[in-house]
Amino acid sequence: MQRTIISNLKNELGKEVKINAWVDVRRDQGKLIFLDFRDASGKVQGVILPNNSEAHSVGSEVRPEWVLEVLGKVNPRPERAIQKDKFNGDIELEILSISVLNKAETPPFEVEGDGKEVSEEIRLKYRYVDLRRERMKKNILKRHQSLQFVRNFYSKNDFIEIETPCLTKSTPEGSRDFLVPARIDPGKFYALPQSPQQYKQFLMSAGFEKYFQIARCFRDEDTRGDRQPEFTQIDVETSFESQEEIMEKSEQMIIDLVESIFPEKKIQSKPFPRLSFADSMEKYGTDKPDLREDKEDENLLAFCWVIDFPFFEKDDDGGWTFTHNPFSAPTVESMGELMEKRNIENIRAAQYDIVLNGYEIGGGGLRNYTPEALRKVFEIMGYSNDKIEHSFSPMLKALASGTPPHGGIAFGFDRIMMLLLNEPNIRETIAFPKTGEGRDPLMEGPTTVAPDQLDDLGIAVQD
Ligand code: ASP
Repeated sequence: MQRTIISNLKNELGKEVKINAWVDVRRDQGKLIFLDFRDASGKVQGVILPNNSEAHSVGSEVRPEWVLEVLGKVNPRPERAIQKDKFNGDIELEILSISVLNKAETPPFEVEGDGKEVSEEIRLKYRYVDLRRERMKKNILKRHQSLQFVRNFYSKNDFIEIETPCLTKSTPEGSRDFLVPARIDPGKFYALPQSPQQYKQFLMSAGFEKYFQIARCFRDEDTRGDRQPEFTQIDVETSFESQEEIMEKSEQMIIDLVESIFPEKKIQSKPFPRLSFADSMEKYGTDKPDLREDKEDENLLAFCWVIDFPFFEKDDDGGWTFTHNPFSAPTVESMGELMEKRNIENIRAAQYDIVLNGYEIGGGGLRNYTPEALRKVFEIMGYSNDKIEHSFSPMLKALASGTPPHGGIAFGFDRIMMLLLNEPNIRETIAFPKTGEGRDPLMEGPTTVAPDQLDDLGIAVQD
């Protein structure tokens, strides 16, 4: 007999079926044993009637999380037992026979409920059990639907998805890099990308014109609720488009995503309001203002754009550093000051951030596409010619090879999911996240490695 998935049982009323499922809940009432079953498609209540002694003896042995094959008959529930608000609340599976496919040890915590009372360390250690709970399944499913939506949106708009490397070179992009020792060149290191920034610009040099990628990014920073050492960006870049065109397309993507996958949400104002950095700081004291008119309403989304950022700010040593991205272009009005390296504090970047309910969910900019202008940025930051060559010569060469004007944006996908799913942190939206301290309790990483692995790399670990 072919397997019927649980969500299709209601089409089989009165028939005998076979299901494969986990025991979700077991209630032994002596004469009657109730087993609630769960598969990827949903749940259903099963019952073993007193006259079925064989099923009864297996049924009194099985426990939650055991995996079964069950033959049963789909019956309508008697009127008084109908649960209208429950999935499959109007049917019941009369269990005819049970075979145990696999037993399960007593689970480390209940799969029922939202799991918020369980320590996160334990939830992550047994993530494969934690992900069985309805809340987590829903989060992962919504994440999948959102990713599919984003892929379709950009593909339909003639963008092509291009993968870029995870093993790349360490460059100063604002955060600490994760380094990967190179066996083929002892003493040298790859770095994991903080973002595909330089590669997406190379793709513009290469003439692809419209690129996107669901990209994994790595930043060795202290983890917070809305940060993880590895995270997912929706990364986008286009050639020959104005700041206005890039912002409009990005806004459309976000609106369409919300309206198709999260229809219960209400977007407070469309088009999204725009604020200059200076106005936002003056009015709200932050460049990530929470513009919600009603902060109690969990379905209200207040998006806004923040623009006109200063290009440079003073670093801890009193020198200049970039506020967002060294590759940003200045605004048209600021180009003269950049090229002449004067009035540095007044130079504005053609940079735009998108904010949702007080969180920055994305940011991008037009880029400096001439090598002369990019060089000026590094000179203002006090980089020597040697440092510029060492860190940025591939980009400067690419810009000198016939690179079109271009710009783009990147969205923090995990953060967007956190906000749309009303979760308190991004870990609740990622299948296998690190803990708040950046460790992986499931695989128990990071770990020490065997001495010969270190020898291969020419590495000695200091005590
Ligand atoms: N690469 C930038 C970031 O990761 C985003 C962008 O400007 O496209 O923040």
